[in-house]
Amino acid sequence: MKDIVIFGAPGAGKGTQSDFIVEHYGLNHVSTGDLLRKEIADGTELGRRIKGIMDAGQLVSDDIVVEMMDKAIAADTQGMLFDGFPRTVAQAETLDRLLAAHGRALSCMVQLEVPEEELMRRLLERATIQGRADDNEATIANRLAEYRAKTLPVAEYYAAQGKQRLIDGLGTVEEIAARIRQAIG
Ligand code: ADP
Repeated sequence: MKDIVIFGAPGAGKGTQSDFIVEHYGLNHVSTGDLLRKEIADGTELGRRIKGIMDAGQLVSDDIVVEMMDKAIAADTQGMLFDGFPRTVAQAETLDRLLAAHGRALSCMVQLEVPEEELMRRLLERATIQGRADDNEATIANRLAEYRAKTLPVAEYYAAQGKQRLIDGLGTVEEIAARIRQAIG
C-alpha cells in the first residue's frame, strides 16, 4: 500500500496531477483545501471559524487539519494521496506519527517546482474560471508568502528522509504526469 504526499506552491498543479496519480495507483485522494472549503459551503461551526483565515490567505491552525487527517487516515484502507497536507513541519511530523500508528509509512513526497511568475499567472487565470474566494491578487501574495515561510521547510524535512522527489512542473499536463509516474515508480 502506498501513501504519497503531493507538494508545491499554490498554483503548482497539485489538484490536476492528483487526479492522474490516484487513478494510476488506486489511491484515496484527500485535499485539506477541499475539506475546509466544504465546511464553509456547508455552513458548519468550523466553517464559520475558518472562513476569514482562508479568505485572507493564511493557514488554518494545525489542530484543525490534523484532526481531519486523523479521521481520514483511520477510515482509509487503500493508501492515500495527501494534497495540501502537510503544510508545516509540525504537520509533517504528525503525519509520520499518524501513519505509524496504523502500521504505515509515507512512500514519498512529490514536489512540483514552478517559477513564481507562472504561479501568479495560473492563479489569476483560475480566478476568472472558478471564482474561488482566495484567488485574487492580494490573497495570492499572502498565500505565496505563507508557503515560503511555513511550508517550504517541509521540503527539507522530506529531503532529509530521502523521500523528496523533485518534478519540473512546467510543460503539458501529460508530460508532468509522466515525470511523476517515473519518479514514484
Ligand atoms: P492552494 O494550494 O491553491 O493555496 P488549497 O486548496 O490547498 O489551495 O488551500 C486553500 C487554503 O486552505 C489555504 O490557503 C489555507 O488557508 C487552507 N489550508 C489547506 N490545507 C491546509 C493545511 N494543511 N494547513 C493549514 N491550512 C490549510
